[in-house]
Parts: sequence; C-alpha cells; structure tokens
Amino acid sequence: MEQLVVGLFLAAFSLEFLVEFGLNELNLRYLRHPGKEQRVPDYFQGKMSTGEFEMSAAYTLAKGRFQRWAEIYGRAMILVFLFAGWLPYFDQLSRSVAPRLLPFTQGTGVLFCLLVALFFWLASLPTDLYAKFGIESRFGFNKTSLCLYLTDKLKMALIGTVLGVPFLIVVLWLMDASGRYWWLWAFVFIMSFQFLMVSIYPTLIAPWFNKFEPLKEGEFRDRVIALAKQVGFKTSGIFSMDGSKRSAHSNAYFTGIGKTKRIVLFDTLLEQMTADQGIAVLAHEMGHYKMKHIRTMLVLQSLVLFAGLYVLSLLIDFRPLFSAFGLEQPSNHAALVLFSLLSGPATFYLSPLINLISRTHEYEADRFAAVALGEGRPMEEALIKLSIKNLANLTPHPWYSAYHYSHPTPAERIRAIRECMA
Ligand SMILES: [Zn+2]
Repeated sequence: MEQLVVGLFLAAFSLEFLVEFGLNELNLRYLRHPGKEQRVPDYFQGKMSTGEFEMSAAYTLAKGRFQRWAEIYGRAMILVFLFAGWLPYFDQLSRSVAPRLLPFTQGTGVLFCLLVALFFWLASLPTDLYAKFGIESRFGFNKTSLCLYLTDKLKMALIGTVLGVPFLIVVLWLMDASGRYWWLWAFVFIMSFQFLMVSIYPTLIAPWFNKFEPLKEGEFRDRVIALAKQVGFKTSGIFSMDGSKRSAHSNAYFTGIGKTKRIVLFDTLLEQMTADQGIAVLAHEMGHYKMKHIRTMLVLQSLVLFAGLYVLSLLIDFRPLFSAFGLEQPSNHAALVLFSLLSGPATFYLSPLINLISRTHEYEADRFAAVALGEGRPMEEALIKLSIKNLANLTPHPWYSAYHYSHPTPAERIRAIRECMA
C-alpha cells in the first residue's frame, strides 16, 4: 500500500513538473521564434523604441532561464524533504523537545510546523536572493538594500509567528476535540481568520512595511475626489505608497473589505503617468470594488478550502499515508503538512481556472473605467505605459499566459476596451 501511495504521488508530482517546465520552455522559445518578426507589436507601434522592446525581451529571457533552474531546485527540495528523512526527524525532534519547550497539548504540533516552515524558508533563500539581487538589479528594478531585505524577512517571520502560532493552536485543537465533523469547524474558523486578515491587512500589517499617505493637494487630487464621488467610492480610502523604497516596478491595487477597503497607488506609478492615465488606473481599481471582486475571490477560495478539508478528513486515519513517508505514528500535525505538500499536484490544475476568473475581473474593471471616464484612450495609454516601464513580455505564448497570467495581456485588454467603446 505504501508503495502505491508513493507511486501515485511521484506520478502526479512529475506530471506537474513537466507541465510547469514545458510551459516555461514554450514561452521562452516563442519569444525567440526565428520565424517571428522582431518588431514592436501592433498597439505599441510608435509608443516604444526598438531598444525598449528588445530590453523587455531580454528581461523575459533572463527570468525564464532562471525559472528553469529555480523550478528544478524547488522540486528537488520538496523531494529531499519528503524522502531524505527530514519528516520523521522533525516529528521525533518535536515530540521529544516540545514537552519542555512548549508545554501545552498542541505544543508538539506547533513546533513541528515551525520546523517545517523554517526548512522551506531556508531552502527558498538562494533563489529569492538571486531573483532580487541578480536579475532585478541587472535590469535596474531592485532598490532594496541588503539591510532592508533582512529587516523585511525578520518582520515577516515575526508576523508569521505571532499570527500563525495561535492560528495553528486553534486548528490543531479543533482537529483533536471537535469530533467527526472537526473539518466543518476548522472550515468556519479558517474562513473567519481569512476574513479578519483581509480586513486588518491594509491598516495594521501593510503600514509596517510601507508608508501610506493621502494624495497631495492639487488638481490631480481634486479630479480623484470628483471621480470617487461620481462612482460612489469613499474618498478617504485613496493612498500613495512608497513602493520606490524596494523596487522601480510600478503598480496599483485595491485591497481590504468593509471599513478598511482602500486603493493604493505606488509612488513610482504616480511619477510615470500623466494625470489622465493616473485617473484611468484609479477608475479601474474602483471597478474592482464596485464589481465586488475581492468578495468573489474569497467565496472561490472558501469552496477550494471546503473541498480540501473534506478530503483531508477522509485521509487523516489512513495509516499508509503516514508510513509511506517514514512516519510511524499518524498525527494531526503531520497530516496537515503532508496534505499541504501532497495537494500541490491537485491544486496546481486549479490555478488556470482561478486565473481565468481573475482575468474576467480585469476585463470588467477595464470596461468600468472606460465607461466611467466616457472614453477608453486614457486606460489604453496607462496600460501601454505600465507594460513599457515594467518591461512586460508583450508576446507571451498563448498557453503560458492562459495558464499563469492573472491579468490578460495588454494587447488583449486594449482590444477589449476598443470593442466595448465601439
Ligand atoms: Zn485590476
């Protein structure tokens, strides 16, 4: 039975790897397709130089080539963790140390999960460092100093522990104490926790990493207020953020729920855009709010979580699952970790579906912006500028973008805006 479990896992794991690796290769080859004309794509003609176009191709190539090795390395680390004895070692270690270190019922489980988190955190450092200080620096995007990088990491570890440990204690306690339907209770708890996180993130967590300021007084702010009134978005919820502290990439986002909802514009974006373009970006973000996109995504996540917890409840007493990975004793904490690692190959195939929904949201928000402003041109220009400044890949392979992109390509978005305004 154990061999069957391992065999099934390895088959799904390898298939996932092949799909992921293959899509990246397709995307890289598509970029350098010898038959493909090396000219600036249609909507970008006259808006960007050949030099800028070549630079975006070079950036895509650098990231894609690195992705090859990062993918192999990341997969290898999962296999090392599962098959080189780390799992039973952490299990034994936490069973022997926790009674002294964390003397409460869930102490062993908490320590075990912390050890696993530490393992994967350390394992991800080399690729993370190279992506930031290698590639991002080479293309002039990285502005993070090593000191800021380390401070960020420490803060994240601290937040992760302060929020994560109580969360884990409750989940493990529910698994232990609430009987056959523990997974339903866990579902209710995890969703409430999720809701809490979404609502406290903008006001309590994000300000620990960045400064958020109301827009400066002036013509732009007056126009923003007028737009907010027209659309019905509360005007106190619009902020600029010092994104330039870490990266030259520019962006904007809508976040939060209920009272904490807000739109955040990176200072880098405000610098690059004309007032018209900035207003279009804001109108797009207000579109996300008006169309309740955050709520839809939360509902979707809850469905996945519900199904996942139900499957976990079926597997939790299945002994071969534990012994297949060297664990003599089944336990709730090992079940949680094993399940989150083994479910990767299953949830992997959900990500194109989630991305598809996310892309329809982007189309809706674009359409909302174009209708609110009465014209599509500023939104189109904003999209073009964002793509150029961020060296976006203007010609991704259609399969690659369908699978991985949470946003449609700029060309797809511009086409949709024109169709809607025609
Ligand atoms: Zn959007």
